[in-house]
Amino acid sequence: MNTSPISLYIHIPFCAKKCPYCDFNTYARIEHLFSPYISALNLEIKQWGQLLGHPPVKTVFLGGGTPSYLPVKLILSIIDTVFHAFDVDTNAEITLESNPRDFTPQHAKHLSTSSINRLSFGAQSLNDNILSILGRDHDRATLIDAYENAKTAGFNNINLDLIYGVPDLTSEIWAQTLSEAIALHPQHFSLYCLTLEKETPMYLALETGKLPRPDEDLAADQYIHAESALAKNDYIQYELSNWSKEDYSCTHNLQYWNNLPYLGLGPGAHSFYSNTRFSNLKSPTQYIKLIHQWILESNDKPFLHHLKNNPLIADFEVIPKNISMAEYMFLKLRLNKGITNDEFHSIYHDRFTNVFAKELPSLFEQNLIFWNKNNLCLTKKGRLLANEVFTSFIGSYLQDTSN
Ligand code: SF4
Repeated sequence: MNTSPISLYIHIPFCAKKCPYCDFNTYARIEHLFSPYISALNLEIKQWGQLLGHPPVKTVFLGGGTPSYLPVKLILSIIDTVFHAFDVDTNAEITLESNPRDFTPQHAKHLSTSSINRLSFGAQSLNDNILSILGRDHDRATLIDAYENAKTAGFNNINLDLIYGVPDLTSEIWAQTLSEAIALHPQHFSLYCLTLEKETPMYLALETGKLPRPDEDLAADQYIHAESALAKNDYIQYELSNWSKEDYSCTHNLQYWNNLPYLGLGPGAHSFYSNTRFSNLKSPTQYIKLIHQWILESNDKPFLHHLKNNPLIADFEVIPKNISMAEYMFLKLRLNKGITNDEFHSIYHDRFTNVFAKELPSLFEQNLIFWNKNNLCLTKKGRLLANEVFTSFIGSYLQDTSN
């Protein structure tokens, strides 16, 4: 059994309103499930804690969905259950994803008495027209109030999510949004390019011409502008989409990018543990219905038994070595510090320069990767075309598995 510290992702599948660009496993108008859902979730947390022998936990991330939409007492009951079921580090990073609309002074004050020590606000923009195109249920003023309420309540590790590459988002509006966001002095920024899955309402609006299609070159320019504006203000880019002040990188997300173990709890949540990736079924109602069945039949069985016989698990895969190596490469290359042959060797007993001897030369030739002393890193161009780099590693294992 794994005894190195793990991270916990806890999924809250509720939102006040479904945003038209969102394809996450989250639902509006199921508030009647708040209490039964949290009871089921707390059972799952307890059960995994027991099955894994109360392992050490270094980060807890309540994401969604909109965790801040829950009544505070339910949020506190989740945190309490986690602390009883796992050996949570005294310095653990505990993040709550928050919608600005929820962050009233009372809510902020009440949450500040808990162990939550990091907030991640889904700000997305500081321009009311762009917020309305994104179908958000908050405006600029609400975000600024929420941010001030959080600071007044004592939160001093705050992330703002912003989205670029949005229809009608001009370079001027983006520059203005960034400069206003920087002026708030958050410790961390996550910047995402708008990507749309086919079934989302916004995808349909673009397809039918109801919204102008975002220009890919303009989106790339917005990313480049953000790199320079954030660097000028002492934000360190440590990952493709993430910047922070010194010592404020997100430990939870670093766990993913360093290919370290994490447990996802709640419907649709993904886990990586004991070299196995697995995920829960997506439906919150099915999840609530099936949790007791799993609890009843799950004691004293080995780890893989739980994955095979757990009615909550939608799928699982023990990762073969060639896939694991490819995943490791593209996860680590997301980080600005890149990857060393020594790190790779300590896990796979081989050098990545041997394993990927076929793929690397062409990536160097295209100026997508470079050596920074002993670390292989993405170039500036590689950061813009990261998917091409990652596909080259995945392509190599797809070829291997088809042979
Ligand atoms: S608030 Fe976040 S999770 Fe909820 S629908 Fe909007 S984008 Fe999706």
